[in-house]
Amino acid sequence: MSSCAADAGGPVPGAATTAAPPLREVIRAYGLTADKRLGQNFLLDLNLTRRIAETARLGPDHSVLEIGPGPGGLTRALLDTPVRSVVAVERDPRCVAALQPLVEAAAGRLRIVQGDALALDATDLVDPPAAIVANLPYNIATPLLLRWLPTLDRFTGVTVMLQSEVADRLLSPPGGKAYGRLSVIVQWQARVERVLGVPARAFTPVPKVNATVVCLTARPDRPAADRATLERVTAAAFGQRRKMLRQSLRPLGDPTGLLTAAGLPPTARAEEIDIDGFVALARALADRDETLG
Ligand code: SAM
Repeated sequence: MSSCAADAGGPVPGAATTAAPPLREVIRAYGLTADKRLGQNFLLDLNLTRRIAETARLGPDHSVLEIGPGPGGLTRALLDTPVRSVVAVERDPRCVAALQPLVEAAAGRLRIVQGDALALDATDLVDPPAAIVANLPYNIATPLLLRWLPTLDRFTGVTVMLQSEVADRLLSPPGGKAYGRLSVIVQWQARVERVLGVPARAFTPVPKVNATVVCLTARPDRPAADRATLERVTAAAFGQRRKMLRQSLRPLGDPTGLLTAAGLPPTARAEEIDIDGFVALARALADRDETLG
């Protein structure tokens, strides 16, 4: 069963953090002027943060990993759910300082780790049952997701806010405008659901683009394939996405042989091939590499 929930709206009972000062006050008191290099666009609307936390379907046994708590808006919403604990990884020392009153108010349920989320192993930070919930820094959202994919089954769900353009690529079916390498690599390993759209004006400062919350869960029926080989195939295929595969797969050698072995028509284009088709191509390439030694 999926652990993602489409936005249901409505309040979440229990406000453990109502005593904390308003977020705008925290931002002012700690001088949290937004640092673009850290992808800082803060979400100060507590109704929205509550809705995001609610869609993650967190239970009392859950440990939640949050990346980039910033001034702590989403962190508060997570603490207002019944979860066992929240571990929040933040790179900006100013935000880490600003979160200390919340750490105290949370009475042992909140731990802040100062560091670069890209350098940490998410599975080391939280014990199962665990979930990831975050308003991700846009500049590292895709590398973070790619890093989490192989161990996605260790989390009941990954509920993240992303630039809508990236969310579209994660969600796109074959034939869609946004369908590409990222769609294939992610959908091969995960089921991706759209949870909620968030307009740019909801953030402070207001970014140029809208955001979308998506939820990823591990695919129990994921077809076996070697990720590196699948990446080689998708890189070649989408490198020339308008061309027929018999042309675009040339860099891999004998494209017609590969397409025949994969049961795909040589006239097909990358954007028409579904996940199973790419997996079949990756297997055909791996078999050929093995045969050639
Ligand atoms: N969660 C907050 C909110 O919703 O208002 C802030 C979200 S803001 C989009 C992204 C946050 O990620 C910022 O607080 C930023 O400092 C932090 N951040 C940026 N790069 C990071 C990294 N490599 N590791 C951990 N945190 C990072």
